[in-house]
Amino acid sequence: MSQYRAVKGTRDILPGEISSWNYIEKVIHRVAGLYGFHEIRTPVFEYTELFQRSIGATTDIVGKEMFTFRPEEKGRSITLRPEMTAGVMRAFIQGNLAATSPVHKLYYIAELFRKERPQAGRQRQFSQFGAELIGVSSPEAVAEVIGMMMQVFVDLGLTGLRLRMNSLGDVKDRMHYIKALREYLEPHSALLDEHSRERLDKNPLRILDSKNPEIQAIIADAPKLHDFLGASAIDDFEKVLHYLDEKGLSYVIDPLLVRGLDYYCHTAFEVTSSELGAQDAIGGGGQYDGLAKQLGCKSDIPAVGFAVGLERLLITMEKQGLLAHAAPERPQVYVVLQSHELAAHAVGICDALRKSGIRSIMDLAGRSMKAQMREANKMRAAYALFVGQDEIQNQVFGLKNLVTSEQDFLSIQRIIERLEPLDESSQKTSDE
Ligand code: AMP
Repeated sequence: MSQYRAVKGTRDILPGEISSWNYIEKVIHRVAGLYGFHEIRTPVFEYTELFQRSIGATTDIVGKEMFTFRPEEKGRSITLRPEMTAGVMRAFIQGNLAATSPVHKLYYIAELFRKERPQAGRQRQFSQFGAELIGVSSPEAVAEVIGMMMQVFVDLGLTGLRLRMNSLGDVKDRMHYIKALREYLEPHSALLDEHSRERLDKNPLRILDSKNPEIQAIIADAPKLHDFLGASAIDDFEKVLHYLDEKGLSYVIDPLLVRGLDYYCHTAFEVTSSELGAQDAIGGGGQYDGLAKQLGCKSDIPAVGFAVGLERLLITMEKQGLLAHAAPERPQVYVVLQSHELAAHAVGICDALRKSGIRSIMDLAGRSMKAQMREANKMRAAYALFVGQDEIQNQVFGLKNLVTSEQDFLSIQRIIERLEPLDESSQKTSDE
């Protein structure tokens, strides 16, 4: 084996797996279209300040997980994007999208980079699909975004997911709560683990996320965020829940759900899968009304979004046996050569078939007829088309159905007429 290996925490998606990715991405594009979201693509790297300013200096991501480099010795520092919201908001502001419409519905499928300790479901390069609804974060908008995320899961056939909901209140509510939480936790600081003690200073909300049972026991009696919410925050949250009820989405309210990033406010949500073990979060999101201002806009621009990890989505789908839909594309015709000397004819035949939209392949390696047939079956080709001296002379070719073994002798023109071109609708999708 070669000494060159993929970098720790990254992985290849080989052809055997790519059809699963294509399938999922197709469902995402379809559902996003149904909800009126438009795709956005932003650069893989951004100036480091963008993430420092938006995600928050006290978060794990900015504190220790960013891949940061300086291409020119005296140039500005650059970071591989660890999440998409900051880049999308930057692009929204830079592209002056607000001038074209008050509300923008954007979605993406993107590669992200975080310097985390690799383990099952946690990589250093991973992919997310997500959406950002910018310009409004009314309860309807929040429910719309959650509804679109959940529809992707439903259309993929996933079951047993848990949607957890919480309200973080506005910035003021949160500041009051953080103060109360810190006051409660400080006398317990000797009992906190090192990680949580660090957080007590910088970002005590994150302690609520702790999976350590001893910390969880301390947190059980901590002040509850809910008691610090103002009337309008409570009212908005109840409206969001009402819309989810209307949509028939089930959820649980989790007062400990805070989400890691600084820019969240009001509704926060997360989806977990019991199929995933320790890294059980598939996706999550929330409102981030203050982010635009943080990035230099004159006023706040309300916004709400989510991000879902595609690797974890795939792991869950695999465990639930849902990847059968994602069969790789099959050739319609495998052109089998009696002998390699006839290759020039086969090239012409393949060309004619392909020009008519028929997915066709031929042997390129001068293999025996037996080996060609073996490969045609392995690829699950629908038909074998035989090319021999007699066939070329008579311009009539054997077309064998590889499922029924029935064989007809036809001209290329008749074969083209017989085989419908493979279009979008002949590929399996969830809408069949
Ligand atoms: P976050 O941006 O941290 O809220 O993450 C959103 C989703 O992205 C998570 O729920 C995971 O599904 C996925 N995710 C986050 N970090 C990683 C990682 N290092 N490796 C794989 N998936 C991840």
